[in-house]
Amino acid sequence: MVASTPHETVTRQDQLLAGLDPEQLAAVRAPRGPVCVLAGAGTGKTRTITHRIANLVRTGHVAAGQVLAVTFTARAAGELRTRLRGLGVEGAQARTFHAAALRQLRYFWPRVVGDQQWELLDGKMRLVSQAAHRAGMDVESDGLRDLASEIEWAKAALIGPDDYPSAAARAHRQIAEPGVRVASVYRHYERLKTEARQLDFDDLLLHTAAALEEHGAVAEEFRDRYRCFVVDEYQDITPLQQRVLDAWLGERDDLTVVGDANQTIYSFAGASTRPLLEFSRRFPSATVVRLERDYRSTPQVVGLANKVIAGSRDRPAGSRLNLVGQRPDGPQPRFAEFDDESAEAVAVAGRIRELLDGGTPVSEIAVLFRVNAQSEVYEQALSEMDIPYLVRGGERFFTRPEVRQAMMALRAAEPADGELVERVRALLEPIGYIPEPPQGGAARQRWESLRALVELAEEFAASTEGGAATELPRFAGELEQRAQAQHPPQLDGVTLASLHAAKGLEWDAVFCVGLVEGTLPIQYALGDGAPAGSLDEERRLLYVGVTRAREHLWLSWALSRAPGGRPRRCSRFVYPLLPEQHPASRAAAGTRPQRTGGSAARPRCRVCDSALTGTLAIKLGRCADCPAQLDEELLARLKEWRMARATELRVPSFVVFTDATLIAIAEQRPTDSRALVSISGIGATKLERFGAEVLSLIRGER
Ligand code: ATP
Ligand code: MG
Repeated sequence: MVASTPHETVTRQDQLLAGLDPEQLAAVRAPRGPVCVLAGAGTGKTRTITHRIANLVRTGHVAAGQVLAVTFTARAAGELRTRLRGLGVEGAQARTFHAAALRQLRYFWPRVVGDQQWELLDGKMRLVSQAAHRAGMDVESDGLRDLASEIEWAKAALIGPDDYPSAAARAHRQIAEPGVRVASVYRHYERLKTEARQLDFDDLLLHTAAALEEHGAVAEEFRDRYRCFVVDEYQDITPLQQRVLDAWLGERDDLTVVGDANQTIYSFAGASTRPLLEFSRRFPSATVVRLERDYRSTPQVVGLANKVIAGSRDRPAGSRLNLVGQRPDGPQPRFAEFDDESAEAVAVAGRIRELLDGGTPVSEIAVLFRVNAQSEVYEQALSEMDIPYLVRGGERFFTRPEVRQAMMALRAAEPADGELVERVRALLEPIGYIPEPPQGGAARQRWESLRALVELAEEFAASTEGGAATELPRFAGELEQRAQAQHPPQLDGVTLASLHAAKGLEWDAVFCVGLVEGTLPIQYALGDGAPAGSLDEERRLLYVGVTRAREHLWLSWALSRAPGGRPRRCSRFVYPLLPEQHPASRAAAGTRPQRTGGSAARPRCRVCDSALTGTLAIKLGRCADCPAQLDEELLARLKEWRMARATELRVPSFVVFTDATLIAIAEQRPTDSRALVSISGIGATKLERFGAEVLSLIRGER
């Protein structure tokens, strides 16, 4: 490397700082020590921390290798690395909490525990199932998943099995099993895991913290190595992660955090905004910066985002931000309603085709949904239109079968002279690499993976001395490292991702789809027994989705899953956003707008047919003051039955059915399960559990 002259350094310094506004600059130039940036989506928080790291490194305040930047998803960590590299910072660590802990634990383990080996538990379902069995329980897969989430929640919140029952009750955890039974499964799970010398993801964090807390020499070595800590998306930190962060810091305070309380979307998993909102109380000398200019999105998108979040009832103090869009005007967000999900997906794919034809790059488009199961119809619709896509941002790239095969072939190849890229192409040919993309879904997906590997080889060859016989093994090594760091190559395709996975990222065009009651907000946030604030968390998910869009934003929903299926309603978060003058347009080509006015998708009163507002009215399916023919006798029997069931299940009675749901049943007297399930508050699970009993009560049977 050629040493730069002082003059060059100054110029690069100026360039680095030129692209920042005064508030961002204040955070970037703050001296080493505590810094907190509290700001809304798209205001440049991630940009600020990457520039701060670059500036501290450039000015010689810290060496790049002494910086540890952490965030919460592999893709967001990849984004941090890419941006740092773009600023010329090489050697700073940017990882997820888990990846950072895994690395540290591997290094320190022999000194902390000796030569006892451990294995990382990949997926805990099998062990949870065994634990449930030992606890004398017979649960099915849904129940096991719930138990696994409870264990994860408890560990993230630093709650052991003994304290689980009381803590779970306080937090209104919704789980069918009594707390003591969950605690027993949790205890067995931990025991089984220890017996098998396995660690789960949360243990990685626990053991890392413990190693630093209890072993002075380890802490000293670590603290000598890492001196400057940065946390992106700090609003989503769990108590367990905070403990690790505190162990990293020790008595030091060289910590920069950035976050947006309005983007907290992991409370259900134990995350808390408190450390963010109380940062300056903990570090009174902290530089605190607030940003309001939104550089990411057009004023049209920003306006909608402000409305989404303004509807939130319970906003934490310190999070009342009103974003101001800085970009030129763009198109109005589109709202579209469809009869069923496949019509919705086909229309989305059609609109994506138009955007592609208009020059939007395919990697600048994302389709975002609430739960991963929603992905499938979009995969199908995009395949049919021959549009490449990647599911969940490609984090699982290195586990795809064709990629594994390719990596094996590259590793097994004999060292030989010859151009790297040519050799890689030749080695991938037997696996399916051809010069031009094949038509159609699965074959195209395989080809895209292989092409991404060839492109990585091109990048690698360009950055190293060509022709050496060691180039291929070194490239294979580079792939291994990327696989370990979960750093997939940039793939070309429409991103299909959950709203959770989309946090921190941005695209030119974003489609928020499947916006119906029961999906967003998700069903379990709707019950009266849902944990406090879970409805607001669902709203924040929409805010996260909307604020991913730079320019084109689309919000859509389908009135039933499949043609003729159970009717569903537009999300309560979306219909207040519908512009008054605009029909909730049916965007599919050739279909005419169905209804006009802002009430397009509003649930309607079954007595007077006017649009319904308010949770109670929506639950009852009629205006609260519209006349109803309530079967008082049936209602009394339903209540009696509910009481017996709740006692038997040891749950509060509203967990079985709320009053509003029982009233709706007694008014509507549904005669079959289809009619029953169309009542608000009765979903597939409740239908399965209680449907037959309720129907027989309606028929007058005891
Ligand atoms: P999120 O809350 O969604 O994570 P963020 O606050 O981290 O958002 P960034 O991703 O850092 O925001 O920035 C959003 C976009 O705005 C990026 O494309 C970034 O490069 C751009 N940007 C940020 N600050 C500026 C600026 N001062 N001038 C120009 N562009 C900027
Ligand atoms: Mg960010």
